[in-house]
Amino acid sequence: MYQAFVGLEIHVQLLTKSKVFCGCRAAFGDEPNTNVCPVCMGYPGVLPTLNRQAIVQAYLVARALDCELSESAVFERKNYFYPDLPKNYQISQLGSPVGRNGRVDLDLGGSRRRVPIREVHLEEDAGKMIHAGDVSLLDYNRAGTPLLEIVTEPVLERGEEAELFLQYFRRMVRYLGVCDGNMEEGSLRCDANVSVNRPGKGLGSKVEIKNMNSSRFVKKALAFEIARQSGLLDRGAPVAQETRLWNENRDLTEAMRSKEEADDYRYFPEPDLPPFKPDAAFLLDVEKGLVELPSARRERLVAEYGLGPDQVDFIIDEKSRADFFERTVALGADPLAAASWLGSDVKRLLNREGVELAESPLTPERLAGLLVLLASGRIHGKIAKQVLEVLFAEGKDPETIIRERAWEQLIDAGAIAKLVDEAIDANEKAAAQIRAGDEKPVGFLVGEIMKATSGRAEPQLVRSVLKERLAKSR
Ligand code: ADP
Ligand code: ZN
Ligand code: MG
Repeated sequence: MYQAFVGLEIHVQLLTKSKVFCGCRAAFGDEPNTNVCPVCMGYPGVLPTLNRQAIVQAYLVARALDCELSESAVFERKNYFYPDLPKNYQISQLGSPVGRNGRVDLDLGGSRRRVPIREVHLEEDAGKMIHAGDVSLLDYNRAGTPLLEIVTEPVLERGEEAELFLQYFRRMVRYLGVCDGNMEEGSLRCDANVSVNRPGKGLGSKVEIKNMNSSRFVKKALAFEIARQSGLLDRGAPVAQETRLWNENRDLTEAMRSKEEADDYRYFPEPDLPPFKPDAAFLLDVEKGLVELPSARRERLVAEYGLGPDQVDFIIDEKSRADFFERTVALGADPLAAASWLGSDVKRLLNREGVELAESPLTPERLAGLLVLLASGRIHGKIAKQVLEVLFAEGKDPETIIRERAWEQLIDAGAIAKLVDEAIDANEKAAAQIRAGDEKPVGFLVGEIMKATSGRAEPQLVRSVLKERLAKSR
């Protein structure tokens, strides 16, 4: 048996308005080569200036990962030639990145694993090459957009753990509002480094895997690679240190290139950018961006509201959803009812309509209103589900809906007594039978009254009033 070591390098596209060293829009999906200027196109003599929003977000992520924050973050040029890199170098960080020595305490479903974070550094992204038949097209809109790289130590041991780490991390950056976390579109990218060795022998010869655009592929690629490397060691063959690509169609990794050393990049300090030294006002801005992170929120929601494991995982998956839940509870809804409605009926309707909770007609006020109507007995469960349907279709408040449709449950004893008397008059035979001590027709009479009220009468109340009336007139 072998021991596997997995370390991740994660790239995060920051959600800033403009690029990291110039004023161009940092937007995706725009007409190609419209968000460009002499700075991000690398014209001679132009000067980069550091985007404050980008550096705040970089420190924020480093802070959320419990890193030591740099008092002097230095930018370096990483030199290499590539068609999508118009300057022929990338501004990145090597010697003094934004953050170092952080950690994540990863919940592995029962046990915990501390994953040390080696560093967090800020850099600029390259453009995009689009291969179309026998030509290649270049879109430089992405060139110079801010990219944050997070490097873990190689302490993960299996593909599943890497997948969990990525899911955790994705949630975290979404909570912080610094990245949309879309792996398919490349806003969040992950390269996985993996080696295997005999237990106790330390790290093995490292392979880097690229080209995985979902956390599931990261898991699968690592499983494949751990098995492949173990097979090589079994046969006494060496594992080549190289970069491999995940082929999602064939479910395997393929050799791409032997890995460059850092020296090949001839890093040197970026002469046009002074080291960034955060002052008190800056650090205050970073603190302001810090929100309660998913794991802490999970624990609090369990302790405060008694949510079950599945319920809470669904609620905390998105910050906006957890906020929605807590607001609904603050407005008077029962926590367990709110969680269970969000996780079932609401979720089903959102899926059906293809909308996000935040954009749907449902608001915390409306959900709380509905749940209060239900809890107070003014409507029953079946009607509540119908109210939710109408709410989604018409965007109205629950009160309005039940008023317009006269869906409120009939719980007025006087009104029910009147209905009962009418039913007795109309069904003399059944009534006589009950008076004679035969309970069988009770259900029939209750049914008649329910029919007459289109199901709105409270059935238990109808039953007891009916028995009472028939007993009295005996
Ligand atoms: P490189 O110099 O090739 O960039 P680094 O030492 O900078 O390698 O590490 C890059 C990533 O690879 C990190 O996530 C680290 O945890 C991981 N890593 C380094 N060595 C190994 C190894 N032998 N096995 C598995 N992962 C490793
Ligand atoms: Zn620009
Ligand atoms: Mg490295």
